[in-house]
Amino acid sequence: MTEARTVAEAYVHLELTLPEGEDRVDYRRYATLHSVDDERWVLRFAGPYEGEWYVVEVPVSKAGTQAAQEAGQLYGVGRSTLIDAGQWYVIESAYAGMAEVGLDQLGDASPDEETYWVILGAWDAAAAAAMEIEKFLPPDEDEDGEIPAAAFWSGLGRRTYGTRRDAFRRSRVLRDAAFYRERRDDLQHRFAPLFDRTAGVPETARVDRPRQSVREALAGLAARPSGPAQPREPLAARPPQPREPREPREPLEPREPREPLEPLDAVAPSPLPARTYGEIHTYLDLRPCRCGSAQFPRSQMTVLSSDEQMVVVHYDGPCDECGRPRTHTFRLPQRPGSPPGEPHRFSYPEDGPSELLDPGEWVAVGQAYGGFADDVLAVMAAEAGEPDPAEHAALVGMLALTVSALDEAMKFLPPDAEVLPSSALWSDNGREVRRVSPEWFERGFLAEQRLKRWEQLTELGTDQGR
Ligand SMILES: [Zn+2]
Repeated sequence: MTEARTVAEAYVHLELTLPEGEDRVDYRRYATLHSVDDERWVLRFAGPYEGEWYVVEVPVSKAGTQAAQEAGQLYGVGRSTLIDAGQWYVIESAYAGMAEVGLDQLGDASPDEETYWVILGAWDAAAAAAMEIEKFLPPDEDEDGEIPAAAFWSGLGRRTYGTRRDAFRRSRVLRDAAFYRERRDDLQHRFAPLFDRTAGVPETARVDRPRQSVREALAGLAARPSGPAQPREPLAARPPQPREPREPREPLEPREPREPLEPLDAVAPSPLPARTYGEIHTYLDLRPCRCGSAQFPRSQMTVLSSDEQMVVVHYDGPCDECGRPRTHTFRLPQRPGSPPGEPHRFSYPEDGPSELLDPGEWVAVGQAYGGFADDVLAVMAAEAGEPDPAEHAALVGMLALTVSALDEAMKFLPPDAEVLPSSALWSDNGREVRRVSPEWFERGFLAEQRLKRWEQLTELGTDQGR
């Protein structure tokens, strides 16, 4: 049997092997990656789908996976021997469609973090799939060179070619791949400031890039697990619409393909109690790798289990900076991952105090976001004319996060206490904050800060503060 060049390609093959259907394939529960020998893994799916039980095994080249990572190619270096050009077009269309649907659902709202990464990953995958088609085209200068019949060996591939011949011209492939990358970059530049955070301090202050309005009202978007997306869309042709002309940008770092390299069930138990994904990410921000970086591929979150009461999620991946493994498991109540319409709250109104971060950490988070808000305010004050909508939106987000973090800290204040008790601190971070800035722990200071930030937020004409 032919082997996949990469784990990502193996997942695509698995997806194409299972019959067409409505259900989501539950890869998280039923797919595992086993090491066979020094040369290959086997991606094995053994589980139910559409009422049947399927077992599919796809060998994956370890060297191919390594080479693809080094080359920054999602699905592999060279031409696929597993998935034909027609099938790649199916995959391309499905991912592009998924990204479009995601954006449509968002409307003018800003995405939650998981949605953001899912859409970003879908554009990446669509562009990579298009470029897989390009590898089958004859290597000449002719923009409309014919693709050889040998590029289609599957029934699906041949049917696709039969109905969509023009999709296999180089000009179409290159144009659409460029379009997907543009859409991806556009999304990243609009929303990355909301989600890019680094060790200790949330790096939300990076408002120099976004160019479009980011609105904060985010309603009804439950946290959705990212992961191998589900290209189950029918083969609707989707001619992309040209968008407004764009300013040139600096090149982007290629993202790592998502590739779980361990059996998905071999993960640590004892999940930590969390209330929202915002709280989880703040926790991860505050607990960087030994090298100091808090960044690792968090979009590779895995849902380990999900029942009526609880969702257990697992974050696992190499540190962006030094490659050391990062692994964290959390449990959340079974409900949307952030309070509907309030993406900047760290808990639901009915929740008690955090069990993940202590009050010293919450104070520090509040002060960090407040400081970023001050920086943006200074920049806006120095600029003449109408404020940039992206700056305005980022500012609203920072102030709302500041207020939310201060609220979390104040939950630890006993009713009659004037100071947050030291006994409420359980983390080294929190104790260090207390040592350096004891005044931050006073009720008067917290109340005053909260009022100030809430007033700033109100002046911006939003209803984010409460
Ligand atoms: Zn590291």
